[in-house]
Amino acid sequence: MTKNPVLKNYGADVFSEKAIRKHMPAATADKLVATMRGGEPLDPSIADEVARGMKEWAVAAGATHFTHWFQPLTGGTAEKHEAFIEPVGPAEAMLGFSGRNLIGGETDASSFPSGGLRSTFEARGYTAWDPTSPAFIKRHENGATLCIPTVFCAYTGAALDTKTPLLRSVQAVTRATERLMKMFGRPKAHVSVTLGAEQEYFLVDRSYYMKRPDLLQTGRTVFGAAPAKHQQLDDHYYGAIRPRILKFMTEVEERLWRLGIPAKTRHNEVAPAQFELAPMFEDINLAVDHNMLIMEILRQTAEANGLVCLLHEKPFEGVNGSGKHCNWSIAYGGKNLLSPGVSPRDNAIFLTFLIAIIRAVDLHADLLRMSTAGAGNDHRLGGNEAPPAIISIFLGDELSAVMKEIETGSAAKKAGRTAMKIGVDTLPPIPRDTTDRNRTSPFAFTGNKFEFRAPGSSQNCSASQTVLNTIVAESIDAICDKLEAAGGDFNTELQKLLQRLVKKHSRILFSGDGYASGWPDEAAKRGLPNLPSTLEAIAPMTEPGNMALFEKYGVYSKGESESRREIAAEDYTSRIVIEGKVALEIARSMIRPVVADEFSRLATAIGQARKDGLKVGLRGLNALSLKLGAGLDDLHVKCEHVEKAVEKGEPSGIIAAMDDLRRTVDRLELLVDDGRWPLPKYREMLFVY
Ligand code: ADP
Ligand code: MG
Repeated sequence: MTKNPVLKNYGADVFSEKAIRKHMPAATADKLVATMRGGEPLDPSIADEVARGMKEWAVAAGATHFTHWFQPLTGGTAEKHEAFIEPVGPAEAMLGFSGRNLIGGETDASSFPSGGLRSTFEARGYTAWDPTSPAFIKRHENGATLCIPTVFCAYTGAALDTKTPLLRSVQAVTRATERLMKMFGRPKAHVSVTLGAEQEYFLVDRSYYMKRPDLLQTGRTVFGAAPAKHQQLDDHYYGAIRPRILKFMTEVEERLWRLGIPAKTRHNEVAPAQFELAPMFEDINLAVDHNMLIMEILRQTAEANGLVCLLHEKPFEGVNGSGKHCNWSIAYGGKNLLSPGVSPRDNAIFLTFLIAIIRAVDLHADLLRMSTAGAGNDHRLGGNEAPPAIISIFLGDELSAVMKEIETGSAAKKAGRTAMKIGVDTLPPIPRDTTDRNRTSPFAFTGNKFEFRAPGSSQNCSASQTVLNTIVAESIDAICDKLEAAGGDFNTELQKLLQRLVKKHSRILFSGDGYASGWPDEAAKRGLPNLPSTLEAIAPMTEPGNMALFEKYGVYSKGESESRREIAAEDYTSRIVIEGKVALEIARSMIRPVVADEFSRLATAIGQARKDGLKVGLRGLNALSLKLGAGLDDLHVKCEHVEKAVEKGEPSGIIAAMDDLRRTVDRLELLVDDGRWPLPKYREMLFVY
């Protein structure tokens, strides 16, 4: 039977279990597969054999090079290719790849951000294979490269990447989950933290992009007047996908499927020229790696199609920005713990995890906000667009009612129903796809998982997921501690504890409209943090209590916390300074000449018209010249402001001056001869593709 072509190629470029078994002796394959599944370190005695098999597979698939593939603190991925070629004599070579090549690498780390963790005399960085994420092949026009997912650290062992803390946080939440499940009397089973990351993005025609220095250098448009029509009619969302875009999407999927990345849904998003790709959820470490590859493949495939994929959180002012909704849950022995069960015991487990998460989010809302901070995401969070910079939880009507019942205990009796008894009663049915979905909530329960909507489209999911795993681990442990200390009847104690916790932490529950103007005041009354911009949002990273929490769970050492905050602050400031400089350059060297030219031609025309004693037209010419003249003066003054602010290098000053300059430029855009406006306009970029 010939296999369906999609199935035939699915996972073809992954060193999968099937490939492993084909390319190495059975005993070695068994050991390797156990390592990959269980996350135990690789037995060094089989490393050479594994490397040989991996090389054989990769070379047969066309690979000429290998690389350790890692995720440094730049926000992207890194790779340094090494050829398999090894000269063995004059004009003679063989292909080599040893166990040592596979397991670890040493690399010059001096140009990667370390936030002070790596002193200048110790420039080496070390990569080490993460066997829980399988090796894969990246193809290009002239061949292919074997990529080995690795962690990246300094010689002291301090993490210089995003994967290391993620893996540590997974370990923390895994241990806590095992502990709690044991208290529920469940046999030991494999814990898997699951992530499904929905990726939003924009596509614009490459010819426009090349004419926009702002898009090219900052990923967003720092100028651009709003077009008459943008997203008001909601006619793009879920609309028929244009053939050019569909061609792009199918090429993306073809490449993703080859890599075993389960791309599942594709659709038009709310803003014009905005789209979304969502894969099926996977084990979190793999899902994060896959998301990094998704972003890369989106960019590359766009380029091959004469398009550019914009992953910035807010490429265009006035229309929706792009997020990366992180759907998160924990599975125990393959069963989703956030799926409300059918038996009272299952319900008790579900409610305990749910309330542990509520407690975690309430206690550490600042850390969750911190984990989504960044120059791009500032335009989404805290703007008048979803989701707000205030972290709160949406549960839906049914679960909110259950929480109320737990909170008020037997006192509150609904018509014909007594209050919920944990471990005795079953839950009312919780619909998986509730119609009362609240898209304005940053952290929403969506039937069998939490959807964290604050992370930005360009961000590596690790930052937010590391925080989420750690705070949930702490919360589960706190519950276990209390239950252990209480002794007594388990169900009764659990009921009492959960009631106390819901009472204490219900302020984080909010079902209202997160964009409503009254919410910030209400949130302030509840004592919820509101951290609208990056520099304040990253401050909690080094708050002593938070550093102690990360240290306790071995996720970030104190030094790692400090360095990460420093890197985030530096990254933020650099980006804003670049934006300021780009805005200045465009305004002075592209916009101003056009406006000045039009103004002077107008002045000449007015002079001529007066001389000729024209009776009509002068009024129009005068009015326009006044507006253009005033705009020209404004432009001059506001550019000076931006220049001064850039010199000072203080982000909030640059942002304010840039915003101010933008108003002038955007006004001028609507006055100046369309044919001579030097930048592609929103109405072109967003609609013509
Ligand atoms: P929607 O956002 O419309 O609810 P889906 O329910 O299909 O869409 O899920 C969106 C994302 O959530 C997908 O990536 C999906 O695989 C993921 N998801 C579903 N169940 C889980 C789970 N138990 N853990 C993590 N992610 C999940
Ligand atoms: Mg969703």
